[in-house]
Amino acid sequence: MALICHDIRLPLGGEDSDLIGIVARRLRVSPETVRSVEVHRKSLDCRGGEVPRFIYSLIVELPGRVEAHLLGRKGAKVRRWQPFSSPEVIPIADGIPRPVIVGTGPAGLFACWRLVESGVSPIVLERGPKVIERSKRWKRFIDGGDFDPESNLVFGEGGAGTYSDGKLYTRVKDSRVREVLQALVDCGAPGEILTDGRPHVGSNLLPSIVKRMRVSLEEKGAEFFFEHRLADLIIDDDPDRRSIAGVLVETDGEQQRWPAEAVFLATGHSARDVYRMLASHAVTMSQKPFQLGVRVEHPQSAIDRMQYGESAGHPDLPPADYNLVSKRSGDDVFSFCMCPGGEILPSTEREGYLCVNGASKFQRKSPWANSGFVVTLEPDRFGSSSDPLAGIDLQEQIEGAAFEAAGGDFSVPALRLIDFIEGRTSEDLPQSSYPRKMKSTPFENFLPRDILETLRIGLTDLVQRFPEFGDRDALVTAPESRSSSPVRIDRDRDTFESIGLGGLYPLGEGAGFAGGILSAAIDGMKAAEKWMSKTTQISQF
Ligand SMILES: Cc1cc2nc3c(=O)[nH]c(=O)nc-3n(C[C@H](O)[C@H](O)[C@H](O)COP(=O)(O)OP(=O)(O)OC[C@H]3O[C@@H](n4cnc5c(N)ncnc54)[C@H](O)[C@@H]3O)c2cc1C
Repeated sequence: MALICHDIRLPLGGEDSDLIGIVARRLRVSPETVRSVEVHRKSLDCRGGEVPRFIYSLIVELPGRVEAHLLGRKGAKVRRWQPFSSPEVIPIADGIPRPVIVGTGPAGLFACWRLVESGVSPIVLERGPKVIERSKRWKRFIDGGDFDPESNLVFGEGGAGTYSDGKLYTRVKDSRVREVLQALVDCGAPGEILTDGRPHVGSNLLPSIVKRMRVSLEEKGAEFFFEHRLADLIIDDDPDRRSIAGVLVETDGEQQRWPAEAVFLATGHSARDVYRMLASHAVTMSQKPFQLGVRVEHPQSAIDRMQYGESAGHPDLPPADYNLVSKRSGDDVFSFCMCPGGEILPSTEREGYLCVNGASKFQRKSPWANSGFVVTLEPDRFGSSSDPLAGIDLQEQIEGAAFEAAGGDFSVPALRLIDFIEGRTSEDLPQSSYPRKMKSTPFENFLPRDILETLRIGLTDLVQRFPEFGDRDALVTAPESRSSSPVRIDRDRDTFESIGLGGLYPLGEGAGFAGGILSAAIDGMKAAEKWMSKTTQISQF
């Protein structure tokens, strides 16, 4: 048995402190009774303009009678520690048809992870190439080369998160979070993600982690097919129960029909061709809100001063991040996917469309900090209440206009923050992390005017509250239009199967049930568990 002791605060520079002594003082026991202390979680508190401090949760081992005494004390400062235990493996009978997973983002990979644990050997389809080849093609593009519609920031092995910031936090409370983090560590992620309060991996480490994970899944029986695109679903239109009968797979321009009874659809929210294919089969989908806005970049030094005050530059402090919201306009303007020491990247899947997102390497050493600033767009703004894909049409309209406005060569529309707020174009632009060119152009050319007005009010509020936020070299790029899916592929709450189409398991961000790497991974695991428990029940008859 062990205890967990939260909220141990240490000043900057106090990281090497005598944790045993600190715990003993906190618990009012002698240091000799403390058998061991292990860091469970470490986070940084720099709120409220105070000097930053580290906050620890520690796992403490003491003799049993001391632990029992501490737990029984009035106002006990400790709780019993519940170590993580792996979930029970569901054994699957031989002879069950192999399920097909479409997509190798976190949702698809972790659905696969769960299935192979139970001895299932899924077939995994991925439209893009393996991650090494994907990295080569991505580098060619950001260095000024041609765009590849099947291998880019969102398509290819590892999915949209492969070249991301790799922030691994979620509001989802689920024991699978620990499993996902442990799996990533087992595949080469730094061990500190298990204890860091705001863990992140970084775009330089993620590709090799993704590769190791695939190799490990292959060793356990999964079979991967890269540059194999799901072109269509083959459906058995039995009037009693419409269900999946197979998939039409396109590779090298050739189409093949593959039989399948269960398809895990983990294609992400940029696979607009997949949504349209589903609509052609009248698969039930509904509109959902999504976020729209801009991505703001500052010199990292300005953000460090804003967050750390006089402690900025302290060697123990990481590049500062923030989580900001302005309520001044009535509609919240809030930061999204903040990337300290990061870069702004073009995150589209097609030529002719432009949107941006942010990423960083593990060390977060770039001189810039960037973050989305977005407002939530409700479906009543999509222009049609009957068409479930109206939100996608709106995204495409904005992204297409942005591409044109910036010159049609993946240059990004950009303005100095001060010019954006004042509603004018910039005569010159500061240096930026964006890897291709920038073009100063009015954002009215592609973003709705009322959204721009809301963003201006919100960003003005933030400049007034945090003067460093208004740094002369602060830059605004746009559009930030893919923070979440504007569509939900409806599924049964209990079985996770598509409503009205048996055997189809929509999952992850594209299905509207996740909003990040961890939540997508967890959704993938849950979908696999649902399928396995159904399959086990059926095979028992
Ligand atoms: C630049 C960037 C930075 C990000 N940073 C973070 C972050 O720091 N933290 C965080 O939590 N989230 C981040 N995200 C979001 C995160 O990446 C997504 O939420 C997550 O990847 C969604 O997982 P998914 O598996 O549902 O879909 P995806 O990761 O989008 O994966 C979908 C996969 O399906 C494949 N596919 C699509 N259509 C087909 C088809 N027809 N046939 C076969 N394969 C197909 C795609 O090629 C892709 O590999 C970031 C995203 C981007 C783009």
